[in-house]
Formats: sequence, C-alpha cells, structure tokens
Amino acid sequence: MFLVVLDFDNVLVKGEYLPELAKIVGKSEEIEKITREGLEGRISWKEGLIKRIELLKGIEYEKCVKAAENLKLRQGAEEFLESLRKLGNVKVGVITGCFDIAVNPVKEKLGLDFAVANKLVFSNGRLVGAEIIVDANKDEHMKQIAKQYGVKMENIIAIGDGANDINMITKAGLGIGFNPTQILKGYAKVNLHSERLYEALPLIESFIRKRQKQESTLNLTPKEKLKVLVCDPIDPEGIELLKKFGFEVFAAPEISMEDLKSRVANCHVLIVRSRTKVTKEIIDAGKNLRIIARAGAGIDNIDLEYAEKKGIRVLCAPEAVATAVAELTIGLIISLARQIPRAEHAMRDGKWIKGEIEGWELQGKTIGIIGFGRIGQKVARLGKAFGMKIMVCELNSPSERLLKELDAELVPLEELLRKSDIITLHVPLSKETYHMIGAKEIQQMKDGVYIINTSRGSIIDEKALLEALKTGKVAGAALDVYEKEPPNDFSLMKTPNVICTPHIGAQTAEAQKYASIIVAQKIIAVVKHQMESACKYKCQECDKF
Ligand code: NAD
Repeated sequence: MFLVVLDFDNVLVKGEYLPELAKIVGKSEEIEKITREGLEGRISWKEGLIKRIELLKGIEYEKCVKAAENLKLRQGAEEFLESLRKLGNVKVGVITGCFDIAVNPVKEKLGLDFAVANKLVFSNGRLVGAEIIVDANKDEHMKQIAKQYGVKMENIIAIGDGANDINMITKAGLGIGFNPTQILKGYAKVNLHSERLYEALPLIESFIRKRQKQESTLNLTPKEKLKVLVCDPIDPEGIELLKKFGFEVFAAPEISMEDLKSRVANCHVLIVRSRTKVTKEIIDAGKNLRIIARAGAGIDNIDLEYAEKKGIRVLCAPEAVATAVAELTIGLIISLARQIPRAEHAMRDGKWIKGEIEGWELQGKTIGIIGFGRIGQKVARLGKAFGMKIMVCELNSPSERLLKELDAELVPLEELLRKSDIITLHVPLSKETYHMIGAKEIQQMKDGVYIINTSRGSIIDEKALLEALKTGKVAGAALDVYEKEPPNDFSLMKTPNVICTPHIGAQTAEAQKYASIIVAQKIIAVVKHQMESACKYKCQECDKF
C-alpha cells in the first residue's frame, strides 16, 4: 500500500489560512512580519505560529469560518485525488500546521482518508488560542499514520512547500516540493513549479510503479532457495552464471505444457525461448513466479499483460540476437537475388542450369525497412554497404543523425510499399502489426517486388502472400518465420519463388551465447535489486516493466 501525504496551505488549497484571517481583521502587515522572521530563520516555525495566534486572539468565530471559506481548492486538486484513487491501494490525506476549522470541511468535501491539523480554541465565540499538535514534527505524524495503515516509510509520497515540511519530505520515499520555499528546495527529491496539483501525478505514478517492481523483487525468498526452470535449450554459460550466483537451476529443454504446469508451481524464475508459450494458465500455476525471462527477442509467446498484472517481471535479451537476424536477412536477400538455393539443388541433382539463372544486383535497389529498431537499423547499415537506397517506416521518429549517417529516408508505410524493390519486416508482433501486410498492402507494392520476413509470421497474411506469389505480383519471398510454427501446411514454402528457413534468425553460436549470458545477468541484477543496471541494456520491450 502507498500513502500520499499533502501539506494543506498553498498545496491542497491556494493561499494560507492565517494570512487570510489577518486580511479580514486588517492585521496583514504584522502577520507578514512574523512570517518573514520565520523564513529568515530568526524564529522557529512553532514560535512564529504561536506569535501569530497571539496577534489574532479575540477574533469572532464567524470571521475565522469566513477566512476558511476564502481558501479555494488548488486547481486540479479534485482530479488529482480521483486519479490517485484509481492507482488503487493508495491512502491520501493531509498533515498540516493549519487549523481544523479550515482543514475539516476540505477533508469532508474531498473524502480524504486522514487529516492531522492544529486546533483553534474558542471561548464565548472568540479566538482565545490554539492547540499545537503539528509543527515541524510532521514526520512523527506521518510515521503514525503509516503504522495505522501498515505502509512502509519508503512507500510514502509527501508533498509540501515550506520549512515545517522538511522532516516529512526527507523521510518519505518520495518528497516533492510543490512551489517550495528556498529553504525547502534542497530537501525535496523533486521540485515542482506549478499551479496544478495534478502535475505531480506522473511523478507519483512512476514512483509507485518503480516501488512495486522493487517489491516484487524484494518479495523473493533468499537467493539460495531460488529455483530457475529453463524450458527451452539455452547456452550453458548463462546457466553456469545463475548457478554461481546461488540459484538452483533445472534444465527441462523439451518440457511439455502439462509438465510445465505442474513444475512451474515451485519455481521463481522461468527461462524460455520461443517454443514455450507462457500463457495465463502457466502464470496462474506459477504461484511463486517472480521473473519470466526470454533468452532472445520477441516476447509475443508470453502473456505480458497478465504477467504484469500479477507483478511478475518480464525480461528479454533482444540486443543479443540483432546481428544474427540482420545478417540472415541480407543472406536471404542475396539468396533470392542470385537464386542460390535453386542453383545449389540443381548441382546436387547433377544438373548444370547456368543458362536458366539470371540474378540481379543489390546495388542501386531500394530496400524498404519496416520497423527501424535494433534489427532494422543493422539491416540498413548492411544494405548501405551494398550500395542500396534505404527507405524506412518507423513508429518512433529515429534521430536525424542516424538517418543521415545511413542515407536513409523516413517515409510513411504507403510510400515505402509503393517505392521499394525489396521490403523487409522488422516490427514486433502485436495487435497493431498482426497482418499489417495483407492483400491491400501487397496491391500497393511495385509489380515484381521481393518480400523478406524474419520478424514474426503473423505480420504477413500468408494466404495473401501465396496468391501474390502465384500471380507474380510478388516476384519472390524469403521467410524465416510462419503463422504456425512448425507449419501444418507447407504449400507456401513449396512455391518455387519462395526461399524459406525454419526460424533460424537467432540461431548463431554467438547470439545464443550472448542471449543466455545477458538474460542470466539481467535475472541476477533484478534479484540483487539492481533495477537500474537491469535496465541499462536498452531493451525496449522489457523496459516497459
Ligand atoms: P526493436 O524493438 O528494437 O524494433 C522494432 C521496431 O519496430 C521499433 O523501433 C518499433 O517502434 C517499430 N514498430 C513497431 N510497430 C511498428 C509499426 N506498426 N510500424 C512501424 N514501426 C513499428 O526490435 P528488434 O530487436 O529490432 O526485433 C524486431 C522483431 O524481430 C522482434 O520483435 C522479433 O519478433 C523479431 N525477431 C526475430 C528473430 C528470428 O529468429 N527470426 C530473432 C529476433 C527477433
């Protein structure tokens, strides 16, 4: 659970209660003078408060109520509270040196979970003094409330603006200075200069997410007892690393879904490649599961959303396999261009078909790269070395510098489809990219285009591709990935102008070794609570978590 503790004056409401009251009774100047003494450190915050109350003694109760009514809620305060509640498991309230007469109506109105404030004391309808409960000891009150709700101190977010917030702000997990006074500035982790309270929300949200991640790690049992189940074949170096760190590692490279369902219950970490599907059912069966790691790229075989909901960290190692996939992509293009597989088969059959084979050169051709991430960029680099013209389509704008370096032109998908001689796919499989190349997109392509797919099978509508290969609209295709793996129906692969490999993009000794080592390092880093180093690998997919 998380606790959000707000200061009241100038944070939850705009303005301050005592100056407001002083204004009503015409004592603003004297009150300001005492406030200044406090700000300059000549008197303590508590002394300043007592002095100000002394000055205001005798004021009618009605005027004190009026001053409270004059304090308006800070812009965006209601949306802020609503959004905090939506985060779930968050209690919100105020701890303030202000007074109950002003704080309680706001507590009621906003439905705050708690409010700790000082009390004004009245006798015969006039102000006679104050009961000071809160001064610079806000941290003590914060501790008590945290205890009451069972919240750890590191899970508290405190927002304040002034000197008496310093203790609270420094002891909270996240201390935010909201338009802070000079004196508070140095103590807050973040200082926010804003009129709108809800601008603190992204900071709070990301803090909560980070803490939740850390907690799911911290909840792990001691490392000696951590059990890792390796479901697909991975290079032994990663396994050795994990063992050295103290994990118990069980290698079950051909485990069936049924066996996995029963064995996952005792495991904390699951390592998979693409064969093992980590479904909702497997995640539910993994009662102790804390990390799911994919030794490679593409996590479409893991139910990411469900894993995240269950607080399970998902890791992968796409950086390890990018070179291997990019090199295979170029290999496939050259194989298509020079009909290497056909020529090779003929030689094996004892046939000399030199006269039947006329290839084409890569130099001067336009290669359209869809998805300009790790692999797409490497393909562009290799394509440039062959003298190809590079055209890219990418959701996130790539840097100008990179485009310039690779002589690459960033274009919309439709233009890329229209202008490319060769189209190669390097996007991840998602709801958005499923069948992103279908009959309609193929129709927009040049007649006699070549298509390469080393990303995921379902990004192309295989039926539409088969049709286009038959009509010659697509002159040739090279595929490493398929809608169903292994395929039931091989008609696409048996088409003469198709070259195909059995999902070997990442199958190099180097890539497998790196993937196994990197994934082991990431698991170890997470377990050692080194979240930062776990993320330093610039892994787009696993950094979402
Ligand atoms: P990456 O995340 O570095 O790059 C993917 C890029 O595609 C990102 O920049 C993303 O913004 C972009 N993108 C996503 N949707 C898009 C869209 N609709 N239009 C344009 N751009 C879009 O990933 P990567 O490491 O380059 O790998 C790409 C994919 O290759 C992986 O997701 C995986 O499925 C596949 N892969 C295949 C093999 C293999 O063995 N054949 C091995 C590794 C990876």
